[in-house]
Amino acid sequence: MTSDTSSQIPLSLIAELTHRCPLHCVYCSNPVEMQKASSELPAADWIRVFHEAARLGILHIHLTGGEPLARADLEELIAGAHGAHLYTNLITSGVGLSEKRLAALVEAALEHIQLSFQDSQQQSAEEISGTRSHDHKIQLARIIQKFQRLSRLAFTMNVVVHRRNIDRLDEIIALAEKLVPDRLEIANVQYYGWALRNRESLLPTSRQLEQARATIESAKARLLGRIRIDYVAPDYYARYPKACMGGWGRRLLLIDPSGNALPCHAAVVIPGMKFDSVREHSLEWIWRQSEAFERYRGEEWMPEPCRSCERRELDFGGCRCQAFLLTGNPSATDPVCSLAPDHHVIEEQLLRINRICEQVSDRFPEIWLYRTSSPLPSSRTP
Ligand code: SF4
Ligand code: SF4
Repeated sequence: MTSDTSSQIPLSLIAELTHRCPLHCVYCSNPVEMQKASSELPAADWIRVFHEAARLGILHIHLTGGEPLARADLEELIAGAHGAHLYTNLITSGVGLSEKRLAALVEAALEHIQLSFQDSQQQSAEEISGTRSHDHKIQLARIIQKFQRLSRLAFTMNVVVHRRNIDRLDEIIALAEKLVPDRLEIANVQYYGWALRNRESLLPTSRQLEQARATIESAKARLLGRIRIDYVAPDYYARYPKACMGGWGRRLLLIDPSGNALPCHAAVVIPGMKFDSVREHSLEWIWRQSEAFERYRGEEWMPEPCRSCERRELDFGGCRCQAFLLTGNPSATDPVCSLAPDHHVIEEQLLRINRICEQVSDRFPEIWLYRTSSPLPSSRTP
């Protein structure tokens, strides 16, 4: 039986073309188990899926990874997505992207590029990514500017912020003013994957967040009409959770490199989930009928206090993956909600970090767990 929301049309398809990546970011959400090119969906299958997506009513495709540039057939994939009348967006670290290859991607009909930066300062950026890549990104942004002018390529600069770089927001925004993206997205770390393992070192303090909010507000006013700034606050400090992925199985569909379809990139952590593959099923069947997409659609699964809460159609009870990671129960109210019975796990964490940072220093502790070739340590937080 399918729920009413299965009749909704998804807006975007997130195509994780590969999990291979030359960077080792300490907040990466990708596992490393699927890093072999041989396990990846071939271009012909991806292009079939793009056409199925368009028939389902999807408008945008986000080509991401890992690092999508690791796919030698990326030009073919972009042309295939364009041929299916999808708006093409490439999300990239830029490592491995030359002017010549960017020209080929634009020629293949790339319409939007999102280039990630780890910081405004080279040393810190390279400590976070575990890779020497910062100078290349700056050079690449200048090359992208040419394509903005000549080919109307839209450009977003993405920056992930956390305790170690959020005090440099002024500098980060100043860097954006030099690189002139159309849009600057500043997003706080979401605590899944490697970020959850590095949470002690990444969680900002409340003092830092207050300052960040003021900096963002003043930059938004100053840059109005020149650079659009989008800021994603950390949900650990929020009163209510975000509508994760716009609600489970409501807005977005993600396909992993091997062809499995997921309602959210972190959903693999939830035990007992079965993810159907586009190698065996149509995208429409997966969206409308697969067990994984049906599991947390609607309100039937909701416990109290969500079940009778007036916000349940706004945030859909928060994130199922976060609920599992922090409580061991994927059906629990997301503990970041101030009304959740398990909210104390968030409060205790914030109290601890804020107290330690006040007493010791913002740099406590300094040991990173990098995304390397070893598997992600056990998914649940201890
Ligand atoms: S977060 Fe960093 S390591 Fe992970 S896929 Fe993106 S660029 Fe690669
Ligand atoms: S109780 Fe549930 S529905 Fe209400 S605000 Fe919290 S997470 Fe959202």
